[in-house]
Amino acid sequence: WCSHLGKQCGGQKTKNRTGIGKSTLIDTLFNTNFEDHESSHFYPHVKLKAQTYELHESNVRLKLTIVNTVGFGDQINKEESYQPIVDYIDAQFEAYLQEELKIKRSLFSYHDSRIHVCLYFISPTGHSLKTLDLLTMKSLDSKVNIIPVIAKADAISKAELQKFKIKLMSELVSKGVQIYQFPTDDETIAKINASMNGHLPFAVVGSMDEVKVGNKMVKARQYPWGVVQVENENHCDFVKLREMLICTNMEDLREQTHTRHYELYRRCKLEEMGFTDVGPENKPLSLQETYEAKRHEFYGECQRKEEEMKQMFVQRVKEKEAILKEAERELQAKFEHLKRVHQEERMKLEEKRRFLEEEIIAFSKKKATSEIYQNQSYLASGSNLKKDKDRKNSNFM
Ligand code: GDP
Repeated sequence: WCSHLGKQCGGQKTKNRTGIGKSTLIDTLFNTNFEDHESSHFYPHVKLKAQTYELHESNVRLKLTIVNTVGFGDQINKEESYQPIVDYIDAQFEAYLQEELKIKRSLFSYHDSRIHVCLYFISPTGHSLKTLDLLTMKSLDSKVNIIPVIAKADAISKAELQKFKIKLMSELVSKGVQIYQFPTDDETIAKINASMNGHLPFAVVGSMDEVKVGNKMVKARQYPWGVVQVENENHCDFVKLREMLICTNMEDLREQTHTRHYELYRRCKLEEMGFTDVGPENKPLSLQETYEAKRHEFYGECQRKEEEMKQMFVQRVKEKEAILKEAERELQAKFEHLKRVHQEERMKLEEKRRFLEEEIIAFSKKKATSEIYQNQSYLASGSNLKKDKDRKNSNFM
């Protein structure tokens, strides 16, 4: 865990890097043991888990939603770590915008799930901010109020902590990361808020353990060498954070979310959809006029597309027709060729038939002639025999 996104009063806390002390701090802040299951370091994707609680203290009721960024920072690709958080925040804005755009709005009873504050947990390393921390805060600063906190501040000495705070702030400024500033426009809280802005990022210690100090039981972390009291301002900034977050500036956090972050989202979204407040020559444009202009533009675009499609269709038909004509020409040529070949074959056959018929006639003639010869010779031999016989008979008489 390095950071922790949180929203109160319909706000959410998100856990990212496991073990940085987010759950303990949230429990300590609201003096409640929120149900929290241990998160593993081995999530392939960042998952945002929201849980809503109804808290009662004296006569104050608080609906608190805590959002955990489970698995944050465990990905190799940094974008994969913070993008789901950006998407989640945008999704809550989108849901609110959709409700606002309804004809029958019920914003009064609407469960506002927009994130009102992000507590970004920074490891007490004493070194520079990690690239992921800078990238994440940079991509979130226009969407949510970021309050950076140095987690487990008891792990760093007082002198080092001061230097670390200065280093972190100058890094955030030089990288252009906008963190939430406690407002100083309301006279009643201007002084305290201005002074608190000078203590950012708050160095916090969390613990639900009670230790006896003097004759009082206090929330603390006990070590062999002594006790770190959570609510002792000499030990850490826990009380400052709690006061600023839950008492002094809770309303401002909600207001900033609505008037700055949501407004920006809404404006970008509506502009993306083509809405604008002014027309050409900077003339104010009503929603009705924008709608009409948009409808006109859409209609024109549809007609242009239709015309384009018609032309494309005609072109395609022409192309297809040309291909078919070419195929027809080829077929015709093939047919003519075959016809010619067939004609030639037929003529050759005719020729052969004629030749054969002539041969048959010649043969028949030959046959007839030979038959005549055969008959004649037969007759001739018959009369010779008779003559011989007669001759023989006359000799005997
Ligand atoms: P999470 O995973 O970020 O929610 O971290 P946890 O709140 O579960 O804390 C992880 C471990 O850090 C636990 O053993 C806590 O007791 C310890 N821890 C929490 N807050 C602090 C702190 O302020 N200082 C120190 N030294 N340890 C802390």
